[in-house]
Amino acid sequence: MNTPSPWLAKNLADERWFGEGQPNWKHLPSVEKAQIERLKRVRLLKKHRHPELMTALAACAPGKRCLSGCCPECGRAMQRFVATKASQLLTPYNEYDVASIIGRTQRLQGNLRTLPAAKFRDHLLRTLRRGRAGLALGGIDFSFNEFPATDRLARWVPHFWLLIHNANRPRWERVVRETYLAKALIRPRPIRIDPWDGNIEALGYALKTKFDRRISKVTYRFARGKVRECKNTTSDRLRANERVELFLYLHEIGLEGRLVLFEVTKARGGFDVAS
Ligand SMILES: [Zn+2]
Repeated sequence: MNTPSPWLAKNLADERWFGEGQPNWKHLPSVEKAQIERLKRVRLLKKHRHPELMTALAACAPGKRCLSGCCPECGRAMQRFVATKASQLLTPYNEYDVASIIGRTQRLQGNLRTLPAAKFRDHLLRTLRRGRAGLALGGIDFSFNEFPATDRLARWVPHFWLLIHNANRPRWERVVRETYLAKALIRPRPIRIDPWDGNIEALGYALKTKFDRRISKVTYRFARGKVRECKNTTSDRLRANERVELFLYLHEIGLEGRLVLFEVTKARGGFDVAS
């Protein structure tokens, strides 16, 4: 496991991030749900014979948090801490856009451990630098994609979720779109950029602790005199072996391994603009 930095350990030592109250948003799991999910992961890891991680996760408790990247309670605290501190930095909100970017690299089932998270992130940071973007803050998210209607193999698709300053957008957007090309990608929209409405949920979503299996189906319909292809994606729960693979990986990269900071630094008690 990546050892948590003193910055993370110090900030998450504050148990209020593990509690209820503000910040809160629609899809944030409750304290109780996060506890139940942790125990589920403990049982799963036990069943699949990963005793070390199982023990670390089982021992997570107030005052002695495990800070593992796969702990749903520590992950939830990290989400609430990052969302709170980032919302203080990213003001006024109407100067920021929400960007979802699917990475250029994917991993077939069983190979997620070979994805170098730091390299994956650094590639994006270089792209943003080339595009002369301003501040950006967000996270790496993962989904498991299946394509039952084609011969493509199921795979892990890492993607970025960012809040990014909208100054200079024509330039950084062009560079990002040129770099993260649609042809290498799966979902119909590899890049989405929308204005931020200031809702804290957009910040919390960057480091969400629930992950989906996406099932892409291609269907055909006849419309306006032509047969048209329709791409449909539905979501489902990850299967046990997929969950194990992802949890081992998240533990390996650590909570901070998912964090993406561009022109932002970790500062005492939160974040600051890089000087
Ligand atoms: Zn924990």
